Amino acid sequence: MVKIVLTADRAVFTDYHGADLFGFGLCMPYRLVPKFVEYMVLAPRAPTVDGVRARFAPLGICKTEAALLAAGFKREEVAIVPPHALRKAVDKDTAIVAVHVLDPKGLAPVTWTLKAISGGGTSCTELEFENLMKVVLELKHRYRFKLVVGGPGSWQLRGWEDKYEIDVLYDGESELTFPIVVKKLLNGEEVPRYVRGEPPPPEAIPLIVTPSRNGQVQITRGCPRRCRFCSPTMWRFRSIPLEQILKEVKFNLDAGFKSVGFVTEDVLLYGANGLKLNPDAIKKLFDETVKLASKYGVDTVGFSHVSCASALVVKDVVKYISDLEGLSDSKPLFPQIGLESGSPRIVAKYFRGKAYPWSPEDWPNVIVEASKLFNDAYWYPCYTYIIGFPDATPDDYIKTIELLDRLRDEGFKGWTFPLLLIPMGGTLIEKEAQFLQLKKLPREAIDCLVEGWRLSLSFSRTIIHRLVRVRNPLIAKILNRLAEKALRAMEVWIDGVSKGIDIIETQFSQVNIRNLSSLAKTIVSVVAHPKKPVRATNA
Ligand code: SF4
Repeated sequence: MVKIVLTADRAVFTDYHGADLFGFGLCMPYRLVPKFVEYMVLAPRAPTVDGVRARFAPLGICKTEAALLAAGFKREEVAIVPPHALRKAVDKDTAIVAVHVLDPKGLAPVTWTLKAISGGGTSCTELEFENLMKVVLELKHRYRFKLVVGGPGSWQLRGWEDKYEIDVLYDGESELTFPIVVKKLLNGEEVPRYVRGEPPPPEAIPLIVTPSRNGQVQITRGCPRRCRFCSPTMWRFRSIPLEQILKEVKFNLDAGFKSVGFVTEDVLLYGANGLKLNPDAIKKLFDETVKLASKYGVDTVGFSHVSCASALVVKDVVKYISDLEGLSDSKPLFPQIGLESGSPRIVAKYFRGKAYPWSPEDWPNVIVEASKLFNDAYWYPCYTYIIGFPDATPDDYIKTIELLDRLRDEGFKGWTFPLLLIPMGGTLIEKEAQFLQLKKLPREAIDCLVEGWRLSLSFSRTIIHRLVRVRNPLIAKILNRLAEKALRAMEVWIDGVSKGIDIIETQFSQVNIRNLSSLAKTIVSVVAHPKKPVRATNA
């Protein structure tokens, strides 16, 4: 008897074909993502063990399930269910459906930016959330369960609670507070519509009991650097004890995953006391994990994020990890890293802590020196930088352009992706910032966008074939061909934007390659006229 069903939409509840970076493809307007690419490549259907329970799940949902079981619920009372199996899982016994959200209204920084630069439209992430909610609401009307929605994207649903008939909009960590909310709902007690979860001590975070997507294991929570535009920094910083980490790594490997991915805001903060780094703890973390993974034939331990300042403080650890994992040009890592701005004035005002122990004036040098260190260790960063700090001046953008130029001149290997600042709920900057429109930005901001794209394009050309590493060889071949075409189209598109952003509205906003026929026409058009702007196609 499943009383509590945990789920998410298909843009969240998938393994991205084993390549987590594919998740960013779902931030695109869906008119620019052919259906077969979305459903066969970017977001394949998550398998179940029995037609209902998921074989694996996004880490956040696994953690929520673990919290409920640790609080006394029985395994048969709780089920993690992928969206396509919801109709089978939910019935008259279901008392609560909890939906985990990342980007339900398409307002996350990557999504908002991609919409702005491509001419708008509903993102795949929004589309999939709407698809899920149609089913959830139909079932809710039939079975009258309570609907709880939570996760990193819950802030986007403020103001939409009535439309989606959300009983509780849950924000924050699940371990301590979510089981209390669930028990109250089951007892018919009053629960406020907005609930914020309290942070647990790391030892009180239960181990997952459903394998997590792509072998992801959380090693830290929160971040002590206090950047004003960031939400994870609002969570108290904690490192998860090594023993717990190793148990979850082993659990996922036993389940058959061939990868280990550390989830963290900065892998080099593992074991730190505030911002006082702990090289021994980081080395031990990698020593033990690599040793364990190698027993299963897994030779790379990846991680999501790192910071330039930490890397320069513990240079030897960067090299140590690289040597331990046997990284090389054909076996690199691609960490995500915030570069944010090249302007010391902006650093001082919005993210001084990110440069620590260096000063805001040192920040451009920190980026350049860390980039050399990373590249020497075969870490090829995905840098992101921000366009649209509330009082950014043309001079601030010029300083960022100068920093990007320095990186190019140094032979930087990696990407530099501009993101528009968004007033993300729960951040320190939430009240000051606005959702930006490109046409309100100064010329220098557009030049700054273009500069980063050009650098990214040139690196992409050198690495694209190594990047497309999906399991199915046929899909890999198709993807490689598509990726080449996409790079050519991107070059045309960057050239167009560099001459004036009107082209986004007049031409790019009309492009629609959702269906096969329109995709084929667009590819032919790009290949036949590589120097001309992308022609609109009708779907
Ligand atoms: S360093 Fe990264 S995770 Fe930490 S506060 Fe800044 S943006 Fe957030």
